[in-house]
Amino acid sequence: MEAVESALADLADIDLSEVSSGSLGEVCERLQRASRQLGGSRAALADRFAQDGSWWADGAKSAVAWLRWKGGDGYGPAASLVESGEVTRHLPEVGQAWREGRLGEGHVRALRRAWQRFPRLHPHLVAAQGKIIDLAAEQEPKRFWGCLQRLCRQLDPEAYDAGAKEPEFSLHASTVLDGHVRVDGLLPADVGAQFIAMLEAARRQLQPDGTTTPELDVRRTSSRNVEALQRILSAAESQGEFPTVAGARPIVHVTVDAETLATGAGMGWLERFGVPETPVSAEFARRLACDATLRPLILDAEGNLAAFGTASRVIPSSMRRYVVTRDRHCRFGGCQSRIDEVHHVVFFSNGGPTRSDNLLGLCWHHHHLVHEGGWKVRGNANDAVECTSPKGKSWISRVPKPQARLLPLVL
Ligand SMILES: [Zn+2]
Ligand SMILES: [Zn+2]
Repeated sequence: MEAVESALADLADIDLSEVSSGSLGEVCERLQRASRQLGGSRAALADRFAQDGSWWADGAKSAVAWLRWKGGDGYGPAASLVESGEVTRHLPEVGQAWREGRLGEGHVRALRRAWQRFPRLHPHLVAAQGKIIDLAAEQEPKRFWGCLQRLCRQLDPEAYDAGAKEPEFSLHASTVLDGHVRVDGLLPADVGAQFIAMLEAARRQLQPDGTTTPELDVRRTSSRNVEALQRILSAAESQGEFPTVAGARPIVHVTVDAETLATGAGMGWLERFGVPETPVSAEFARRLACDATLRPLILDAEGNLAAFGTASRVIPSSMRRYVVTRDRHCRFGGCQSRIDEVHHVVFFSNGGPTRSDNLLGLCWHHHHLVHEGGWKVRGNANDAVECTSPKGKSWISRVPKPQARLLPLVL
């Protein structure tokens, strides 16, 4: 180590302007080789360090964490170093060639990829080290990766195909407790990019504009994403060309008994392909019922369906339009978002009339907060309503002043 350090110190001390211009390229090339050699030794030692566990004595939780802490180059380079060291432990001739500068870190990275992707080829790769070193010496890392794949395929086509398969793309959406849906999956790059772009665009529309009350500002991006997704879905749903399920528009159906709707006690059932299947809370059902189409189902004493009534909108479209025009944006304290749903200040099954003074335009997020988040809203929607947080803080929300262009012309 001392010899290396003193040589490097000498190098740092020399006046680089004294290097004759004729040999600059050659010096660069020789230094590059030297830095490969240093890299190879570093990786091999980092692997030994990871193996012997001495990092533990300093309180680090892994060798990578220790190297990151002391090295100061961040997580990526530290992890890469240890992984490269590990693969050259399995391929010692390759490790030796690296320390001699015959191949570089880029080549080892490609080898690491092959090593991880084709586990069944490990014995073949160990046996083919001489060939691999020759390939690496002739090719830059990118082409070397191509040659390496070809070599792997020659060594064992079946094992290669098993490792080279594209990851299986999937999108799972499963209903869990309370009808919440867990979404998880892996999207191909193009679909994924489109999804992220749409989500981001929708999320930006929801960005607080500075007038939002601080208490509402603390939501994380991931939670605003939920609201953004709701916006995307409702926009998609309102498109005429949207696909249908068994001839019907994909809308949410909930079955709930009248008593639950009135009292808020009990539960409702979310339908799946026409069958009430997933239990949901009464509050969830009441939120949907605020601004929905209701179809009464009449059951006999045994619970069999006896008759059903005519579906009708809880809020007639003309009334809904009036509320949206009057409120212009969500009426929740400080929110400027678009109105997604119209809320009954006093719930209709509690005797709240479907009249403009009892109807309030809210965005999806705030409608959710009012029904399921413990917030309270009361007052005359045509004038001022009071929104109270679960902690008892409250805001007054007045009807927005009419826009100038909506005022009648005075002749
Ligand atoms: Zn409501
Ligand atoms: Zn809102």
